[in-house]
Amino acid sequence: MIDNSKMKSLLFDLDGTLIELDMSVFLPRYFKALGEHLADLMKPEALITAILNSTEAMINNLDPKMSNKDVFEQDFFKRTGLSPQIAFPLFDSFYEQVFPQLAGTEVRNLAAQRAIELALARGFEVVIATNPVFPQKAIFERLRWGGFANKKFNLITSYENMHFCKPKPQYYAEILSKLGRTPAECWMIGNDVEEDLVAAQLGIKTFLVQDYLIPGSKKITPTKKGYMADLPDFVNSLNREGIPSGGVE
Ligand SMILES: [Mg+2]
Repeated sequence: MIDNSKMKSLLFDLDGTLIELDMSVFLPRYFKALGEHLADLMKPEALITAILNSTEAMINNLDPKMSNKDVFEQDFFKRTGLSPQIAFPLFDSFYEQVFPQLAGTEVRNLAAQRAIELALARGFEVVIATNPVFPQKAIFERLRWGGFANKKFNLITSYENMHFCKPKPQYYAEILSKLGRTPAECWMIGNDVEEDLVAAQLGIKTFLVQDYLIPGSKKITPTKKGYMADLPDFVNSLNREGIPSGGVE
């Protein structure tokens, strides 16, 4: 039996966990649109290469004084020689006007929506623990696609408010410190063996969602596993002090 009596916070990954978004399909579409939007500044292929390299710099950074955004921008502008004054307005208009059109197919998952509603109704702290390599605008937009606009999340990690990325354990440590929680008080729910299950290194319990499973190079065994359709039952199964184990319904 898993002891859930101290459970306070549920950390949910976003893509492939709460929304039916397959990043391997979405990223090429995203890069194509971004490349076209900034085509007057530099060749799309060169831009994408620079963004990938700067994203890697951001993921590898372990300086707690630099936000992910700081690292990305420092690396990107040095690498490309672009002027921030010229590039920023174009990035902003991309995320405001173009990114919202990229949803493409229907990404909503009713079971995931139900799970979040249950978690919030049962008084759990809910964190959107999506890899903070994107600006807040792009994360809020994906939440909107998924039917999670205006939900009372305790924290949504983005490149502005985080100093580490998945799969670094420091990312999860930073979430714990922002929440003021111990690992024993949290679950991490995600579809990526490497990026999401690494939370177990800190002692956080993990639930692997297998619909859009991204296997890792290392074999890590989750505390529990299932599918998006199982998420409402999973949330209901968590015991809380003063709350019947059958849930609140
Ligand atoms: Mg994911």
